[in-house]
Amino acid sequence: MPRSPQQPRLSPYTYHGMTVSICAECKKSVPASIQERDGKMYLSKSCAEHGRSRVIIASDAAWYKEALEFQAPTVMLRKYQTETVHGCPQDCGVCPEHEQNNALPVIELTDLCNMECPVCYADNKGSYMMSGDEMTRCLDTLEESGTQVDAIVIVGGEPTAHPELIERIEQCYERDFVQRVVVATNGILIGKRPKLAAQLAEVGAYVMLQLDSLDPDKNQFLRGQDMIRNRELALGALREHQIDTTLMTVVIKGLNDDELGSLIRFALESDFLTGIDIATMVYTGSGGSQMKFHPLDRITGTDLIHGAVDQCDFLETSDFMPLLHPHPQCGAATYILRLDDGGYVPLPRLSDRDSYRRAMLGHFIVVPDERHEDYLREIIDHVWSHSDEIENAEVILRTLRRAADDIYPPGEVLDERERNRRVERYIKNIYLHNYMDEHSLDAGALRKCACMQVLPDGRMIPDCSYRTIHRATDPRFNGGAAINHGNDGLRHQLHTIGKSPR
Ligand SMILES: [Zn+2]
Repeated sequence: MPRSPQQPRLSPYTYHGMTVSICAECKKSVPASIQERDGKMYLSKSCAEHGRSRVIIASDAAWYKEALEFQAPTVMLRKYQTETVHGCPQDCGVCPEHEQNNALPVIELTDLCNMECPVCYADNKGSYMMSGDEMTRCLDTLEESGTQVDAIVIVGGEPTAHPELIERIEQCYERDFVQRVVVATNGILIGKRPKLAAQLAEVGAYVMLQLDSLDPDKNQFLRGQDMIRNRELALGALREHQIDTTLMTVVIKGLNDDELGSLIRFALESDFLTGIDIATMVYTGSGGSQMKFHPLDRITGTDLIHGAVDQCDFLETSDFMPLLHPHPQCGAATYILRLDDGGYVPLPRLSDRDSYRRAMLGHFIVVPDERHEDYLREIIDHVWSHSDEIENAEVILRTLRRAADDIYPPGEVLDERERNRRVERYIKNIYLHNYMDEHSLDAGALRKCACMQVLPDGRMIPDCSYRTIHRATDPRFNGGAAINHGNDGLRHQLHTIGKSPR
């Protein structure tokens, strides 16, 4: 009998390259393949002890591959804090192999929290309050590293639960290299204590206010309470004191991903809101790690882009660009000009892509400098000379000229902080963050992280490897008894909602 020729066995996945990840169980480094299938990107890895796993990392392979073209130059540090011994991501602290500076440093003030969110990605034990000396050491580490700082982000636990929050913020502003201090908060204490908002305004703090949903039931699932009254009070206090506030949203597939449009509009419509920072859910920490999810059908950064575009009629996919300072897979952003007539136009449409990219390079968040003054003049020229092609050109020009006079007043020198505030009256931001957890961690992307936790022990650790690996051995948190984060019933309900058909 003639033998039939052997058919080649083709994998349904196309291999794109190798990186390093960690095993989600034992957190040891493992090699990982980056693969494509049916227009989506996956990370596939295998631990000798815990077996093989695969997770989706981008629902849009075309965006993922194009984004890799947007590699910003590496800004080196003057001093690296750890040595390269075991390799990325185990040596973080950061070692000389790191490929970006710490433009958006994160400082954890306390692990005390006044909420017990089912989605919490930290592991709060309520045992730590940062002292003045520790803050000094963190700021020294930043200063010695020679990094340029766009903003320091103060986090918790719940940072407003720290009795000396204002003093810690003042310590930051005492340093010349710090122009912005942002407090990331659930807003409960800001709403309840009118004095706190006044103090935050007085000291010049910015706020990132957690707001995941406008629906009380979804907040109940995400945060363990409906948050409606708390949010009203917090937003009221922040508005009253005109504190520049960015909304901070965590998105779970099938739960609140249908609210991207309404949340973005909510952020753009309020005067004191500077924009919105939307992040993918990470299944890490005391809450997140216990939540069930489907590794091949979880939310990714590209879902945020498409969701925002589908739900906002003034947005197109081409309005978003990969973040231009960290790794391009860390997220995407666009800036929206708020027009005099109440309309919105995405800034990237008002100039060519190269000028836009030049103006945005080197920073994690926009910090207006001479380049931006040139860019603003450039887009005024561009709109003026293309006024018959650009819709609403007259209103755009009027708004841009007023903005230019306000932000760069002739014959007057504004300090950087005042200039930042004036920019934010006209230009709102939409940041879409693609955070990584122990399942999706790609050390290739991590190596270009520009958002690192600063520890009093002198280390700076990229946020995604801090939460997944290094927080467990942070000497600050190894003493307290664990708070029970949970209500497993809640988590079960969340899981059910997360998987329900839409
Ligand atoms: Zn393992």
